[in-house]
Amino acid sequence: MSDTHIRTEGHAGRITLTRPKALNALSYAMCLDVERALDRWREDDSVHLILLDAEGDKAFCAGGDIAEMYRSGIAGDYDYGRNFWRDEYRLNAKLAEYPKPVVSFLNGFTMGGGVGLGGHVSHRIVGDRSRISMPETAIGFVPDVGGTFRLAQAPGRLGEYLGLTAYRMNASDAIHAGFADTYIPEDAWPALKENLVHTGLVAQVEAATQPVPDSPLAARQAQIDDLFGGETLRDVLNALRNDPSEFAAETLKTMERVSPLSMALTLEMIHRLRGPSLTIRKALELEYRVSYRVMEHGDFLEGIRAAIIDKDNTPNWRHAPDGVTASDVSKMLRPLGPDTLDFKEKAMQIAFIGLGNMGAPMAANLAKAGHSVTGFDVAGTTADGVTNATSAPEAVKGAEVVITMLPNGDILRGVATEIIPHMEKGAVLLDCSTVDVDSARAVASQASYAGLMALDAPVSGGIGGASGGTLTFMVGGPDDAFAIAKPLFDIMGQKAVHCGASGNGQAAKICNNMILGVTMIATCEAFSLADKLGLSREAMFDVVSTSSGYSWSMNAYCPAPGVGPTSPADNGYNPGFAADLMLKDLRLSQQAAETADADTPLGQAATELYRTFVEDEDGKGRDFSAMLPRFEKRHRG
Ligand code: NAD
Repeated sequence: MSDTHIRTEGHAGRITLTRPKALNALSYAMCLDVERALDRWREDDSVHLILLDAEGDKAFCAGGDIAEMYRSGIAGDYDYGRNFWRDEYRLNAKLAEYPKPVVSFLNGFTMGGGVGLGGHVSHRIVGDRSRISMPETAIGFVPDVGGTFRLAQAPGRLGEYLGLTAYRMNASDAIHAGFADTYIPEDAWPALKENLVHTGLVAQVEAATQPVPDSPLAARQAQIDDLFGGETLRDVLNALRNDPSEFAAETLKTMERVSPLSMALTLEMIHRLRGPSLTIRKALELEYRVSYRVMEHGDFLEGIRAAIIDKDNTPNWRHAPDGVTASDVSKMLRPLGPDTLDFKEKAMQIAFIGLGNMGAPMAANLAKAGHSVTGFDVAGTTADGVTNATSAPEAVKGAEVVITMLPNGDILRGVATEIIPHMEKGAVLLDCSTVDVDSARAVASQASYAGLMALDAPVSGGIGGASGGTLTFMVGGPDDAFAIAKPLFDIMGQKAVHCGASGNGQAAKICNNMILGVTMIATCEAFSLADKLGLSREAMFDVVSTSSGYSWSMNAYCPAPGVGPTSPADNGYNPGFAADLMLKDLRLSQQAAETADADTPLGQAATELYRTFVEDEDGKGRDFSAMLPRFEKRHRG
């Protein structure tokens, strides 16, 4: 975990920044940790609201951690910064759009990245020490992290003033400008946090609210509107130069120190965004156009050098204050084409062990969705877009999620023992095979002992569902692991049901497949009877698929060739889902029924039929729907 303390307390998800010595500057790792926590708590019913605060009394968060950005940028690597911004902006949008209340406590300095973190949430609290600003123009950048969304909505021309001058707002200014909601003196914050945690009721915020003191900024509103109403930077500078007031002279002095290109860009961005159709995503998308280009074509690296690296405070900006042209501005704001900010979830490092009938298309779908997938199969099989490793331990190195799709519980236990020592701490071991409940639970405890999280997530939907990305996952295991895997379930399937603790996914799967085995036999029996009664298969399908005898076996996986949707029956009964695997699942169901003392006569009969088919007849290696040609050949008695 990075410099964040993430936990649940009472009814609250709590995120505390724990880097007070660096004024809680937001690093890339902190950003990703916060996002993961939000993803986790989104569907956790025990979390009613989120509390966002920071250690120390100097700063909530004084900005993004730009040291690494500078190091990589100065070496000509712009990708690190672009990726950081891309992921940070996605987090900013997520916070603004979060479906549960998020309460931020903006103590001390809340600047740049800090505004992105705590300045867009549903309940933003400020106190007497709060100092809020968007200071980016001073380092050759523009207000980002959704800052332009706030600036474009600030009253009158306040947005232009705040964005260009980096003015530090106090609590009442921030409320006036729309960067905060509620004034509560800091000494009342601990009790409020406690109440929020214990009650889970965000109404506690309103109850603790105090009247807002007068805002110095509001008192200047008319003057600011006058001075910052111009269309271009030159218009604004001229208005300030022609105004005899001390305020104009001081403001001009501030603006002479900051990047002219940054100021001109900020002005244009606010003008473009202001209006009724503004959304935070629109603002972030526009900001990203600048972030993407600013190291190479803007004043960013020079601004950081002068302010933070060499600390000489004499930046050599690219333009003179009056020298920024309209084309300089529009070049930086041109759309980015394929690199446009699209708020897509971050690509994950995934290992996939077992690239068989099911595993290969599942792994290919993950790769197609943009994830980085490394695969391994003892048979040497591969999948589209997947990088092959030479062994399972090699495949799992550095993976955040390791997926297994293997024939049975014994093989799963063997593979787990082989890979667990090579997996990263905190990674998720996600087994999608169908195995016995005991193996699932044994692997889960082995993983948990090694500091990993494990999920059993068998699937239903067959190879059609695997390649079409429409599987159903039945999942057992901890909430945290489920939240991490959820975006992957959404790619590989259409539904993921969290069935409870480890092993419960397999329990659900075994019950489902007992129904499937029984209905496939019933469907094949009925086709065979229909044949002998002289009913055409087409007519049989047409009637049953829309009548009360319908089932997945009939409608989606029809065992009669040439009838209904394409299925293994149309491919000489090549699996598909092999009869051997169905026998395996039915045996698992009977093993579980035995342990649980459940009466399952049809499950028992189906197991015996598939056993005979696979072990005594020609069923081995054929699809489980090849029961139909079996019945065709047979007679009563
Ligand atoms: P499969 O036999 O086609 O694939 C399993 C793969 O695992 C094979 O490619 C095999 O070489 C590989 N493997 C075996 N041992 C290994 C090891 N030690 N290391 C690495 N790879 C190894 O089977 P499948 O149809 O893809 O089914 C996989 C799992 O999914 C099974 O548990 C099955 O019950 C379940 N399932 C299958 C279907 C289906 O329709 N096929 C549907 C639902 C669930």
